[in-house]
Amino acid sequence: KAKEAGRGQVCFYSDEQTRASRERLEIEARLRLALERQELKVVYQPQIDLKTGELVGAEALLRWFDPQQGAISPAHFIPIAEQSGLILRLGHWVLEQVCEQGLRWQQQGYAPLTLAVNLSPYQVRHGKVLAMVQEVLASTGYPAQFLELELTESALMRQEDEAETLLDELKALGVSLALDDFGTGYSSLAYLKTFPIDVLKIDKSFVDDLESNQDDREIAATIVAMGHTLGLKVLAEGVETEEQFEWLRSLGCDYFQGYLKSPAVSAEEFVRFLQPKRDEG
Ligand code: C2E
Ligand code: MG
Ligand code: MG
Ligand code: MG
Repeated sequence: KAKEAGRGQVCFYSDEQTRASRERLEIEARLRLALERQELKVVYQPQIDLKTGELVGAEALLRWFDPQQGAISPAHFIPIAEQSGLILRLGHWVLEQVCEQGLRWQQQGYAPLTLAVNLSPYQVRHGKVLAMVQEVLASTGYPAQFLELELTESALMRQEDEAETLLDELKALGVSLALDDFGTGYSSLAYLKTFPIDVLKIDKSFVDDLESNQDDREIAATIVAMGHTLGLKVLAEGVETEEQFEWLRSLGCDYFQGYLKSPAVSAEEFVRFLQPKRDEG
């Protein structure tokens, strides 16, 4: 009986696996097409100074609208793009879009702001990310000082020495670096001290229950204190309510992004957040 059940399970598992890998291949094929047909879009979410309310930057986020399936979440298709290596082309495309858009805004007379782009672990480990960033900065002419690259802890944990070298090289280009989803990974003090990071992004999961959860408040307070001790800025992700905003402000957190201000919007819509460039006389 046990044997039967076992066999049944193996069978079920392999069906499930076949189905999953078929779906993966299908999505991958459609994603390739979408890239060619320009069905992908970059949207921008404002990042706000918690004390002054001023716009300090924007995070660029990828959107895919498939004519048949509708909107497909990056949380779903980015991992597939990673498994297939397509992320390298996708990542290049996103960075190029963002740099071109940033430059356009500057040329239109808006005050320059930092645009943040996500790098996936595969891009980071693949080893060509430095050349890729360098190439896009050169070809677009976008000033590196207004580009921020977001990395996750998991992208950096393997081969720490190599990661440190890579981050130093990226920094040497003039870009800034943010650690995304902070608190969900290893959050090791040792690497925080050695890596040339500029911004810690407190993961949304610690922000969600700030009003009610004492532990989360203490975690957030610790991240802020730790970041400030190391001379970093701290940004809270996924802020949705006034209460969360007030807690973060009282904890001394520097910046936030979240639906409380705005979800990510198209470049055209984002213009409403932009300020005219101040006259330097
Ligand atoms: P992430 O980099 O941590 O981005 C933050 C996510 O939180 C975004 O989801 C954003 O839309 C969402 N968010 C922001 N504020 C709020 C809020 O107040 N409430 C809620 N419920 N959500 C909020 P999104 O755009 O679906 O992206 C999911 C993840 O996909 C990103 O997490 C990032 O890891 C990845 N991703 C998105 N675009 C790119 C990209 O261009 N390249 C790479 N490599 N990854 C990307
Ligand atoms: Mg991010
Ligand atoms: Mg995040
Ligand atoms: Mg530093």
